[in-house]
Amino acid sequence: MSAECIFCKIATDAVPAKKFYEDDEVMAFHDIRPLARVHFLIVPKQHIETLKDCQTEHQALLGKMLLLAAQLASEQGLVGYKTQINVGREGGQEVFHLHLHVFGGGPVV
Ligand code: 5GP
Ligand code: ZN
Repeated sequence: MSAECIFCKIATDAVPAKKFYEDDEVMAFHDIRPLARVHFLIVPKQHIETLKDCQTEHQALLGKMLLLAAQLASEQGLVGYKTQINVGREGGQEVFHLHLHVFGGGPVV
């Protein structure tokens, strides 16, 4: 938990979000500025800043996030979709709490 982190605040419901999946380890919510008709984020509840910080101990968590992307995309009726993880400022990362984007159902940039 990082006090100033927006996704940590969403994890504890201190900040509202359109969450549609949650368990002990991960949550999924719709992006506040969608770049496709369907654009949601899969986010671990643990504060991990970026993919670069992940170690072998995070292997199961990362696998779970990918499988959840497939499950939730299917439940949202997406036939095809795109997943993306931005890593570091040079990789386009703006929120420094690990997250997996899922885009689908329309123009994907
Ligand atoms: P990044 O560029 O870090 O990979 O993507 C961060 C994403 O988080 C952006 O698409 C942005 O719109 C989204 N985002 C930032 N703040 C909030 C927020 O408070 N709520 C929600 N639902 N999404 C957010
Ligand atoms: Zn955080």
